[in-house]
Amino acid sequence: VQSMIVVSACLAGFEVRYNGTHSLNETVRELLEQKKAVSVCPELLGGFITPREPAEIIGGDGDDVLDGAAKVVEISGRDVTELYVNGAHLTLMKAQEVGAAVVVLKEYSPSCGSAMIYNGEFKGVKAVGNGVTTALLRKNGIKVISEEELGDYLALAQIKV
Ligand code: SF4
Repeated sequence: VQSMIVVSACLAGFEVRYNGTHSLNETVRELLEQKKAVSVCPELLGGFITPREPAEIIGGDGDDVLDGAAKVVEISGRDVTELYVNGAHLTLMKAQEVGAAVVVLKEYSPSCGSAMIYNGEFKGVKAVGNGVTTALLRKNGIKVISEEELGDYLALAQIKV
């Protein structure tokens, strides 16, 4: 029995990013078409719509947000931390529901980043850190990787796409 993979909806080609675009990754779309993956967008689950304002984590990363030490703020200043945390919890429920072996999330997003995010200054500068959803999934023992690590993961897990 092959376990299910959960992927960021924008990587699967759905136009769910804040600015109404996608971040299509052909391998991710193929996994979805072959029914080896299901897609999720933590921000839409959390209550956002597309398009929406860009947001960044201020004061740390996803772990700090979960600890109450950092917040997620839209570019115009609205504090949207609660929506991000909601989306993270609903994504965790979904991953647990399908028994996800791995969750493949879009790098650099304040929800989905798994190694790097933007630094909170809205200047396009990246910093080491994870997104809010990634932080919550990892706290709950779920493996999260980015699209950049997907090829290696599939090869190791001997999953043909
Ligand atoms: Fe949704 Fe994550 Fe893609 Fe952002 S990066 S659009 S939260 S799936």
